Amino acid sequence: MVDEKIELVVADITTIQADAIVNAANQSLLGGGGVDGAIHRAAGPGLLGECRKLGGCAPGDAKITGGYNLPAAHVIHTVGPVWQGGGGNESELLGDCYRRCFELAAEHGLQSLAFPAISTGAYGFPGDKAAVIAITRTRQALADNPNLDRVVLVCFNPATRQAYEKALNLNP
Ligand code: ADP
Repeated sequence: MVDEKIELVVADITTIQADAIVNAANQSLLGGGGVDGAIHRAAGPGLLGECRKLGGCAPGDAKITGGYNLPAAHVIHTVGPVWQGGGGNESELLGDCYRRCFELAAEHGLQSLAFPAISTGAYGFPGDKAAVIAITRTRQALADNPNLDRVVLVCFNPATRQAYEKALNLNP
């Protein structure tokens, strides 16, 4: 049962021990506010140095770096869509973010991954819709990749946790 490999935790993602944590970055990959700022602060300047060499990242895509001073070995940087009311392909792009992160995890043989609620902060994506996309993509990845044994969905606040709980109860 793939859902046994999904963990919901209310935490700061920079404290999570996993093979990789996912960063909700912006297209420059050069740092920003929210979870991005927290990850760069906790990882230290080495992370920014590596990010500078990556040439940015398009919405829906992802790139992997080292974890530097973080407890996580790697950071997978993905760029979520900015919510524009739903008519701008935002749901597809958010799904692409999760798919690309899981692809990179599989390519690098990673067994545990932690995600923030991509796009639901400054980028304004509705939390309930984002949670359904996150859960759907996570279940798919766990079904496709038996090497993946733990996916932590990090909730920064109780509302995000509730959205994931609701999404987990749909189409179980
Ligand atoms: P985006 O620009 O993709 O919306 P944000 O960083 O603004 O990214 O927010 C994404 C989500 O990450 C929000 O739900 C926010 O509450 C959450 N968040 C912010 N800081 C942290 C953190 N340190 N650990 C985990 N989640 C965080």
